[in-house]
Amino acid sequence: DDLTPLIEAHVRDIPDHPRPGVVFKDITPLLAAPEAFSAVVEGLTAGHGPGTVDAVVGLEARGFILGAPVALRLGAGFVPIRKAGKLPARTLGESYDLEYGSATVEMHADAIAPGSRVLIVDDVLATGGTGRAAVRLVQRAGGTVVGFSVLMELAFLSGRDKLSDVKLHALTTV
Ligand code: 5GP
Repeated sequence: DDLTPLIEAHVRDIPDHPRPGVVFKDITPLLAAPEAFSAVVEGLTAGHGPGTVDAVVGLEARGFILGAPVALRLGAGFVPIRKAGKLPARTLGESYDLEYGSATVEMHADAIAPGSRVLIVDDVLATGGTGRAAVRLVQRAGGTVVGFSVLMELAFLSGRDKLSDVKLHALTTV
């Protein structure tokens, strides 16, 4: 089922956010439309069924909103990956380069049991830096990344190239 028309109808372009020259994909209209939200959550399960995934990892912040209902649908736990300094217990961290400077994301060190099958969920795949860091965190914890689901892939930023070793599932590509 191609969700592209539904997503295009509910995601809007915000020019010059968060900086001049960037066109930000705003998914809040989709979250506010229950039928679209529900169809997207189903799509993000990427064909996985209940009992085939142990944990869904969501990336701050919109990956929390999308990942939590995906986890419940799959009967899996939900694990947050957050920006540095937010998680309260002991963490594993991964840093990656940005256009200017670098960023760090963290996951609780005990969040993923070794051998866990993990589905990572986020809203938008852009350069792939965040996604790559998330894959590393899960793997360092001993988990197996069985899939990486995003609502939207921005193909012109080539994030897919950084995730060539995982099963990437984009509901739509622009
Ligand atoms: P990347 O690391 O792939 O360059 O950026 C992906 C991260 O930044 C994701 O967590 C995503 O939420 C956020 N992001 C980057 N660009 C956009 C955008 O245009 N719209 C939204 N909603 N998120 C974006």
